[in-house]
Amino acid sequence: MAINELTLEWARSWIEKAATLVAQNATLLTELDTAIGDGDHGANMERGFGAVRRKLDGTATTDIGALFKLVGMTLLSTVGGAAGPLYGGFFLEMAKAAAGRHTLAKSELDQVLEAGLNDIKRRGKADVGDKTMVDALTPAIGAFQSASELHVASRAAADVAKEAAEKTKSLLARKGRASYLGERSIGHQDPGATSCWLLLEALASVCAPQRDLGHGGTKTQRGEQQTNKR
Ligand code: ADP
Ligand code: MG
Repeated sequence: MAINELTLEWARSWIEKAATLVAQNATLLTELDTAIGDGDHGANMERGFGAVRRKLDGTATTDIGALFKLVGMTLLSTVGGAAGPLYGGFFLEMAKAAAGRHTLAKSELDQVLEAGLNDIKRRGKADVGDKTMVDALTPAIGAFQSASELHVASRAAADVAKEAAEKTKSLLARKGRASYLGERSIGHQDPGATSCWLLLEALASVCAPQRDLGHGGTKTQRGEQQTNKR
């Protein structure tokens, strides 16, 4: 049976995987932002998550709250643009909700993610339908909360985020730079909704019950491995 909680170790793996996916998809994010913005979203996110990765390399985080705080502070000071304060706030709000915690049960992660989303909505004053990251995160976190097992929930969240990001094509932008284009923003996918999908894809890959652990390519049940450690 899979372990139904996010440990500090897996939270770190989530962030590291997110940094990898952001770097691998920076060109895509830039292309999307070139069509309806100023073309910097890929560079902004890659710079931010690159800085996060370097900070993590030299820091032994004590708990999940401290980890998310480090991520939030670093994104806040390095990403820039509209997305910097929004992603920074997302992780800082999650840090508050996860303060002092070494593990988060699935039901607790439901609340932690929702707290992060609410901060984005509050800061950006955006809601569903405005063609922003909120359009991907809202249904994705809803899907996460609807499943009881962490690996099922995180996979559902990533899949829903991907689909929702694609659906932003049909929306008219009402917030951020893309809103300056009015009707001309229709037909283009929102870059921020797309980077949200990458973050959730990273979580899903870390929480997957079968993880390729490398070292000869053996695939091991994450749950079994944890059980053996205890
Ligand atoms: P900038 O638009 O300042 O160049 P980025 O290109 O890094 O910043 O980020 C753009 C993304 O930020 C958009 O695609 C959108 O998803 C998100 N965004 C912009 N404004 C808002 C807002 N008010 N609320 C939520 N998300 C927003
Ligand atoms: Mg931009």
